[in-house]
Amino acid sequence: MAAIQKTSESTYIFLKIADNTLDDIDRQFGLENQLDLDSSPPPRYGLGALERLPLEIIHLALMQLDIQSFTDFRRVNKRTRLITNSIPQYRNILIHTPELIRGIINIETARNFSCQDLYKKLSTAECDHCGEFGGYLYLVTCHRVCLLCFTEETDYLPLSRKDVMRKFGLESELLANLPRMRSFPGRYSPREIKCRRHETLFDHSAA
Ligand SMILES: [Zn+2]
Repeated sequence: MAAIQKTSESTYIFLKIADNTLDDIDRQFGLENQLDLDSSPPPRYGLGALERLPLEIIHLALMQLDIQSFTDFRRVNKRTRLITNSIPQYRNILIHTPELIRGIINIETARNFSCQDLYKKLSTAECDHCGEFGGYLYLVTCHRVCLLCFTEETDYLPLSRKDVMRKFGLESELLANLPRMRSFPGRYSPREIKCRRHETLFDHSAA
């Protein structure tokens, strides 16, 4: 998320800092542009057996899916995109943070949490670690964090494969069960540091 500052008890502003976060990388993946399908011609294909279920039940089930499964379902056909578009929480995510799901998919953490988990974190303001205002999301496991905790607490500093094996003495096969992310190539930080490779990083607290 872009840098945010709390200016009063109920007011937050976006800081005009070119911090080059994940939000600013790879704007090609246009999930956010697909909300306006509602006025286009009706879909030719339906939901199959799922059509028998009430819409509310489908919404509840979809919100419990991990974000990758949710996105895969969304891509099946136009009807599934319309169904996902009609979920109020998902609409709000796309309207208010259109770059967020794209970023989650790019760093390959979309299997680690559900749309419901993500919406819940976006609907709160406090850092999960210290309770102060949290303007950032730690997207390996979907935690809301403040800048201080995000940059200094070891729980939010994911480790390379080599480091996690050395620090915790874990065998290579045990790493398969740990939440992880893959870095996405691009230029990051106000200094535009170039990240060229896909590097796999593991969640510290789960290790
Ligand atoms: Zn904090």
